[in-house]
Formats: sequence, structure tokens, C-alpha cells
Amino acid sequence: MRVFKFGGASVKDAEGVRNVAEVLKKAGYKDTLIIVSAMGKTTNALELVVDHYFNQPEELSNAILELKHFHLQIVEALFGPLSEPMNKRVGELVSELKSLFKHNKATNYSFVYDQVVGFGELLSTSIINAYLNHVDIQCEWLDARKCVKTDAYYRDANLDWELTQKTINAQVSKNKLVISQGFIGSDENNFTTTLGREGSDYTAAIFAYALNAESVTIWKDVPGVLNGDPRVFENTKLLNQISYTEAIELAFYGASVIHPKTLQPLQRKEIPLYVRSFLNPDGAGTSVSKGKTLEPHIPCYILKPKQVLIRLSSLDFSFMVEDNISEVFALLYQYQMRVDLIQNSAISFSVCVNNKYNRLEELLQILRSKFKVTVFENVDLYTVRHFDAEALTSIEAKKDNILLEQRAQETIQYVVEN
Ligand code: ASP
Repeated sequence: MRVFKFGGASVKDAEGVRNVAEVLKKAGYKDTLIIVSAMGKTTNALELVVDHYFNQPEELSNAILELKHFHLQIVEALFGPLSEPMNKRVGELVSELKSLFKHNKATNYSFVYDQVVGFGELLSTSIINAYLNHVDIQCEWLDARKCVKTDAYYRDANLDWELTQKTINAQVSKNKLVISQGFIGSDENNFTTTLGREGSDYTAAIFAYALNAESVTIWKDVPGVLNGDPRVFENTKLLNQISYTEAIELAFYGASVIHPKTLQPLQRKEIPLYVRSFLNPDGAGTSVSKGKTLEPHIPCYILKPKQVLIRLSSLDFSFMVEDNISEVFALLYQYQMRVDLIQNSAISFSVCVNNKYNRLEELLQILRSKFKVTVFENVDLYTVRHFDAEALTSIEAKKDNILLEQRAQETIQYVVEN
């Protein structure tokens, strides 16, 4: 079996959905599972719906109505006069969402979030499934929540691998084309859970792992994995081949093209991952597999914006060594800071972190009671893997405001003030 994943950008409108059918015709779809995200920016819109429910209830019904219209207009464009059954299905899903709010008693934001945002994927896969069947591509709709079993850590649920492998193998029909949702799963009480934003790549890897799939293909709006984000860096080039280890390194440093959790399950079973363009399905794209580290072997550029650089030194000028550094790490863990980079000298310790859960102020308050603290917010972290002389000059020339630089054999990193 092969697993294909189509992200939100590939199905952002009716034309995108038609293109999915074209890609399937070109690439073949026998014995294939397709994992699909919510259409366009639907997950963001649903996040706003959750926010309104808690903070601005007067805005709630309008936001839901907008979401309904967005999907109905795609249905209309796809099915024309034959849209009635699909209009009904969209209506049913939206009513389910409304009734969820009506009956909800839970005050836990993350729990409510997960019950709500998954509707994006339920809507998109229902519409795409109907369209594929409409154009004679026989397809079966599968509820991912019956397959992907997780704990109840809402918004970033952890997989129960053993159970998930069993449920997937029991639910997925072989030798057919099956469509299911990325991003969502369910806990032991069958409440919906989500795997974290951008989690659909991970879903594709989970299904591939459980099914011993021959490959996973992520269809994107870029030709494959490039050696830098083309929105940030100039003259980016396509990477033809990347080893699993190198891809994990790139994802770790912040290359957003592949969701970091996706790679481990694929590496464990040596299932190749292809990243290809849904705009040019004939292009070879990038293969992430066992083999060469990087082909061509060129520098790879990564930018992580909006990071925080914290510089610490002891209040009494004593050394920053094991005891106080371990204390700092315990606090970073406690306040859920994702550490990007560390550097220390005898009396100072610098750490660049991602303030993902907005807990910086809490952390700083404690740190200030124990250390002398200097903070630089909203800094950019640049990483270059496999740097060469040219790569170094190009970055240095661009940046006057380097706050910190760190160089290892394969990797150089700069923290830059904005
Ligand atoms: N729809 C979800 C999101 O926007 C999951 C995904 O697209 O991967 O984060």
C-alpha cells in the first residue's frame, strides 16, 4: 500500500480538489490511502471559533456561518446542480459542531479545542471523497478517530502505537483507494484528540508504519524539499535525496517542510518518504530514505523567527557551572521552553528558546530572583547545515546584528537581533 498526504494548501479551493483527482490519475490510486488536511486556512478559522466560544460568544455563530459558506461554495463549484446531497452533509457536520457548543459543559480549553478543530478535516475529506466518486475514482471514507488511538493530552496527543496498529489494520480496506483525515485521533473515551498543528504528515507516517506501506508521498506546492525556504532565502535549490538522519536534523533546526515527528516511524521501518509537487506531479521531487546524506551536497539554510535569547550570569560573579546550569535547565523544562541553542562561558550562560506556550514572563520572574538576566525577544535564529565559505559570507554580509554565533563541524548558527 502507498500513503499519500495532501495538505491544506493543495485543497484550498475547488480547483485544488479537482487537481487531487488529476494527481491520483497520474500517480495511480490502487491500494492507496490518502490523508488529507482541512481546506486552506480552515484550522485557523476553527481556532478562532474556539476562541470566540470562550471569550467572545456573541461572535460565535457568525464565525461558524462563515466556515459553512466557505465549504458550501466549494461544494457548489465542484458539483454544480448536483450539490444537494453534499450540501446536506456539510449542513449535518456544521449542526454537529453547533450542538457540541450547545451541550458542552467542559471548561478545559484544550479539550474543547480538540472537539472543534477536527471538523476541518471531517469536512474536507467528506467533500473530497464525494468528488472523487463523482468523477469515477472509487474511494472509501474512513474516520481516522477509529484508527489513531491516543492518550488524552489534548492539542498534542501521544500515540498508543500498539492499539493504533491493530485498529488501523482492522479498519483500512486493502486494494482500494481510501481517504482519511490527518491531524485527528481519539482517546480511550472516544473523545477527539489532535496531534499538534501541522500534524497531518505525522498521521500519514502513522498509517504507513502500521500498514507496512511501501512509501509515503507528501504532495506540496513546492517542487520538493529545497535547501532553504524560498519565501526567505534566494536561489534555493531542490534536494534530490536526503537521508532520514539528515532530514531529522533539518526538521530539528526548524526546516518546516517536514513535520519533525513524521520521520522517526518511517525511519524505523525504512519506508521512503517522497516530497513532490501537486502542481507538477511528473517532477521527481525529493526522496527521504536510507542512503546518501544529501544529494546534491550543498548548504541548507533555516530561519527560526521570533525566538528569545536569554543571557544569564550569577549575581555574585561565581562560575556558571553544573549546579546553576542544571537549575536553569529544570526551569526551562518546567516552563515548557523549547531550547534551540545554548552557549556558556565561565560566568555567563546564554540560551535561545522558543516561547511556544507563552510562559516567558513566568520563567523570567523566577530567573531574575536567582541570576542577572538580559533578554532579547523576537530574535531570528539562522542555521546553516553543511556550510561552506560562500554560505558564511552571504549570511555575515546580510546581518550586522549578530548577538551570538555557534559553530560545529556541520552546522553554524547565528542569533540575530531584529
Ligand atoms: N489542519 C491541521 C493544521 O492546519 C493539520 C495539518 O494541516 O497538518 O495544523
